[in-house]
Amino acid sequence: MSSISEGLRAKIRTQANDQCGYCRSLQRYVLGILEIEHIIPKALGGNDDEENLWLACRLCNNYKAAQTHATDPLTNRKVRLYNPRKQNWSQHFEWTNDGSNIIGMIKLYSLYRLK
Ligand SMILES: [Zn+2]
Repeated sequence: MSSISEGLRAKIRTQANDQCGYCRSLQRYVLGILEIEHIIPKALGGNDDEENLWLACRLCNNYKAAQTHATDPLTNRKVRLYNPRKQNWSQHFEWTNDGSNIIGMIKLYSLYRLK
């Protein structure tokens, strides 16, 4: 049984505007209920405090799993994953022109380091 109260779940859902913090799918377009996810996974010591919780669809939550970092394919450096509570989605991602995929935006500092 989860130790996250129904009140806190409702608060997180409101803070997240009822949408996945990663793919931004709205609850009304997702089959199943958006899940409360741990930004720092419990498997890595994350807690059930509000600051560590956000809303995610099952696909994003399962894909992220217990990861907190990933390798940047441009720089080959290990980088911290996007934090939907602290970072602005549109500064990190954008939709492809056909609206079928989300892609990470290239940071100016990444371009600079590639030269
Ligand atoms: Zn998602």
